[in-house]
Amino acid sequence: MHTILVINCGSSSIKFAVINSQDETTLISGLAERLGTPQAGLSYKLNAEKHSHTPKGTDHSAAMQAILDIIRAANLLDNLVAVGHRVVHGGEYFHDSQVLDEKSLERLKTLSHLAPLHNPVNIIGIEAAMQLLPDRPQVAVFDTAFHQSLPQKAFLYGLPMDYYREHAVRRYGFHGTSYRYVTQKAADILGKPLNQCCFLAAHLGNGCSAAAVLNGKSADSSMGMTPIEGLIMGTRCGDIDPGLHEYLCQRLNLSLPQLMSVLNKQSGLLGLSGVSNDMREIKSAAANGNQQAALALEVFAFRIARYLGSLAVSLPRIDALIFTGGIGENDADLRASVLQQLAILGFKTDAQLNQQGGDPQGRISAETSTLAMVVATNEELMIALDAARLIKE
Ligand code: ADP
Repeated sequence: MHTILVINCGSSSIKFAVINSQDETTLISGLAERLGTPQAGLSYKLNAEKHSHTPKGTDHSAAMQAILDIIRAANLLDNLVAVGHRVVHGGEYFHDSQVLDEKSLERLKTLSHLAPLHNPVNIIGIEAAMQLLPDRPQVAVFDTAFHQSLPQKAFLYGLPMDYYREHAVRRYGFHGTSYRYVTQKAADILGKPLNQCCFLAAHLGNGCSAAAVLNGKSADSSMGMTPIEGLIMGTRCGDIDPGLHEYLCQRLNLSLPQLMSVLNKQSGLLGLSGVSNDMREIKSAAANGNQQAALALEVFAFRIARYLGSLAVSLPRIDALIFTGGIGENDADLRASVLQQLAILGFKTDAQLNQQGGDPQGRISAETSTLAMVVATNEELMIALDAARLIKE
């Protein structure tokens, strides 16, 4: 048995899983959270049972040590052949996942300015794992890498070219690991090689994005230089008029960092609904007559449909539209609303299939419709499969 330890290191949390890359089963998974506070804790699932554990310290390295202790105690350390790390930004340098050596880790460190909230903590996770497991290869899997195939016409902003040439200002796109996973699954379901498939896909979770995938390669993404561009998300605003930055800073007497915090943390579904960033809570408020929550749902769905419509121009045809992520996989009302607004592209919902989350292949569209399907994402598995692939090469 060959297993991979998958690490997703955030600013105050570390998600982890040990995955058998051969039969694709998850042997243990867990979450260390509230790191950096006295309430730091760790919970995990092993053999379908939930456990909790208190690390001997509150920082990331104490949490990594605790994760390793748990894996050792579960007798899962010996078969561990590599560690796969989720890394948010790979800039223009990383087009694929990468086994890290001194040179590539140094290169990765030079990209931190592109994702200052994410990459530095991803690197903390990598360095802690390197220290604790020095004889296991460490593999970085980037959210951006899949979108490195975007053509210039899709990734350039209408800004002075020097900003791109000298400061790497361009659209990068994110959620690439999820798109790689669900488009491969969809191609398998269609019985066609991925490199002959044209897909629209919407990853709708706390972060939301949409992408056009042409012959298995990303052709366009709704996300930009940073993950705030594009769709309305749980707390991020998505596209807004760039003129608003000056207007709001002046009008509300906010500094730019204060405004950015509002745009990242208090906007999106939370800001619009005034209820929550969590789709289930907004739906429940709307069902109980909260008009503002209902309006937030309408704006959210329209933005998705509008983006998918514009992403379609990158494709010669649509083999399928894929819904994924917590909302995409579970919210039948949202899917129906998006498909209804995309009638121009030939979409028609099968109400019953949509309600039940799709037929056994995930289809939610009517027989006569352009195909729309639900495909559950599994980014941890994709990271494990990448790590297994790369250490063999
Ligand atoms: P993350 O981006 O953190 O991985 P998820 O992909 O788990 O997040 O998605 C979280 C979102 O999915 C939340 O807004 C949550 O309310 C929503 N969600 C989960 N289950 C349902 C459901 N049954 N109906 C509607 N939304 C759901």
